[in-house]
Amino acid sequence: MTEHRKVLIAGSGPAGLTAAVYTARAQLQPVVVEGEPSSTSDQPGGQLMLTTDVENYPGFTEGILGPELMGAMRAQAARFGAEIHTAKVTRVDLSHPPFPVWVGDASEPSYEVEALIVATGARSLMLGVPGEERFLAHGVSTCATCDGFFFRGQDIAVVGGGDSALEEALFLTRFASSVTLVHRRDQLRASKIMQERAFANETIKIRWNSKVTEVLGDTKMHGLALVDTVTGQHSELPVTGLFVAIGHEPNTAVVRGQLELDDQGYIQTHGGSTTSVEGVFACGDVQDHDYRQAVTAAGSGCMAAIDAERYLEARGS
Ligand code: NAP
Repeated sequence: MTEHRKVLIAGSGPAGLTAAVYTARAQLQPVVVEGEPSSTSDQPGGQLMLTTDVENYPGFTEGILGPELMGAMRAQAARFGAEIHTAKVTRVDLSHPPFPVWVGDASEPSYEVEALIVATGARSLMLGVPGEERFLAHGVSTCATCDGFFFRGQDIAVVGGGDSALEEALFLTRFASSVTLVHRRDQLRASKIMQERAFANETIKIRWNSKVTEVLGDTKMHGLALVDTVTGQHSELPVTGLFVAIGHEPNTAVVRGQLELDDQGYIQTHGGSTTSVEGVFACGDVQDHDYRQAVTAAGSGCMAAIDAERYLEARGS
């Protein structure tokens, strides 16, 4: 049976759940298709489920654990009547509203929706080496803005050679005793200006032609196993933190080919959250490769909800 809904929200990070709170309070009876756990690094609630302390989300004097914050947002959305469906959106047809939405393995659309809010987020690309997943949020991080503060006075590493890696490395020099940039080639991909800043910063050291093969530690991370990509020589780098900055990938698989994407593959939004298809709105990291913060995602979720509400009202829905 295909259920007709005014609003469906795909994704349950801060953007999706904020959109759920707002659309539920606007009495649009939203359904949130929140995703479903498939591995430690892929579960409903988005990237904050992979962090420990969140100290930069406004309103929490002492900080809050990422999963606790997401649990509270989910409960808040449910309190106002948002229905939460634990499954993944597997297909949508955005030809014209109402848009059919397939969920999980269903062969028929589970929903047809007048407005769709895409809040499927982005994921950090990971190295995929032993120890990386085990120490995620306990030494391994993908966000210097979020976690840099926890590495005060420590020797840490950043892996990657693009603008993100250099931006993370430069930011981390505010806290760490030393930041070693581990890059697999002998040239950086980052812009010249970022390279100059990094080369000029005495706290940053660079390990050229080096690949991380393992994150080392027993109960705590204590180093990285490296291999030289030219000589094949193995070595260990004693660090207590690793920031993985090898790029991000927006979760756009279900809308690719149907929504306009920008040159980096993120959903292109115009004037708030509107996309290239009327009735489809996007918020959070799936349309933002710049700020990528929980609070900016939540803010854009609010915008998407208000945009959807106005769209439905104008259509007389
Ligand atoms: P990126 O430019 O794609 O760089 C990714 C880096 O990670 C590359 O140096 C790459 O090495 C390395 N890498 C990829 N896979 C790896 C692996 N498995 N193991 C080890 N290293 C790996 O990504 P980004 O730095 O996130 O930047 C994305 C875009 O955003 C870029 O256009 C960038 O200019 C922009 N950006 C701009 C700013 C800014 O202007 N302030 C800040 C951040 C990002 P190779 O070089 O060998 O391929």
